[in-house]
Amino acid sequence: MPTYMMSGFPMPTNVIDRMDAIRRNFLWQGNCDPNEHKYHLVNWDEVIQSKKVGDLGIRNLKLQNRSLLMKWLWRFASQEQALWKETIKARFGMENKWTTYMPTQPYGTGVWRSIRSQWIKFANNCKIKVGNGGKTLFWEDVWAGQETLKNKYPDLFNLSLQKVSRIREMRDNQGWDLKFRRHLNDWEINRVAELLNTLEQYKDLTPNEDNLFWLPDKQGRFLVGSAYKTSQRSVCQSSGWPWEMIWKVKVPFKVACFTWPLAKQATLTQDNLMKRCRQFCSRCSFCECEIETINHLFLHCRETEVMADFHQFKRHKLDYAKEHQRGSSLLE
Ligand SMILES: [Zn+2]
Repeated sequence: MPTYMMSGFPMPTNVIDRMDAIRRNFLWQGNCDPNEHKYHLVNWDEVIQSKKVGDLGIRNLKLQNRSLLMKWLWRFASQEQALWKETIKARFGMENKWTTYMPTQPYGTGVWRSIRSQWIKFANNCKIKVGNGGKTLFWEDVWAGQETLKNKYPDLFNLSLQKVSRIREMRDNQGWDLKFRRHLNDWEINRVAELLNTLEQYKDLTPNEDNLFWLPDKQGRFLVGSAYKTSQRSVCQSSGWPWEMIWKVKVPFKVACFTWPLAKQATLTQDNLMKRCRQFCSRCSFCECEIETINHLFLHCRETEVMADFHQFKRHKLDYAKEHQRGSSLLE
């Protein structure tokens, strides 16, 4: 995987498509002769979804590329006085303390523009970790709770004389130094008390610089893997698929890999081959009594039951299925 290139440059769609074609062929054809026809039994868009929603968890290159690019946004926000950062700052100007303006010029901006375009997704998963309060705007940044204080206390914000002050400027030795343009009414004093109560847990500033805190990680550090999982979660919601029955069972990995297409009803039993225009007199080749379907062949065929007993394979899916009536499927 060209991770090094993907970590600095946006991957063109046709390159992603070509790489997906190579990976898709390898998954279904292995090292066989490429001219030999093999069926692709599960849609590729499903294969690259997470195992937890029933698929194979192969990396989605587009999301992986995005996650790697986000790493530069993290570095830009957290590294102080790095030469590359100063160059980008001088070239595009700062929109806030954490990132630049979105580049709009048509030439010479492609690399940073593609990185900067990930900012909204990146910022949605960050909060500000206040250190000395020198970078964070008191009213307009999200640092105390889930929303800005401006949104939470719009009445007090309108009265404030410190609308663009940073946290450090609003602290003195006595505590919070809130300045308003007139004396407060009785009902407004209650709101100020509420605000001070909210600020109580943030009163201790530290000597460190303010920094971003990456919410998906407990330590607050940006990790490409967690960014990938977060963006994948936003693409596919959990479907209630019993993925642990396949991937968490203590069986050899190749058995788990074999169970996955069975559960997806995607193996080349005779009924599936007939759907692909192959002509058969469809009968189970063991018992010759019923149509060869996945459920029959792996669960309900009397020969399968004998083999399951022989191998004492009772604690897993076959035993589970034997207790069910004929016709039940593998993961019902
Ligand atoms: Zn049979």
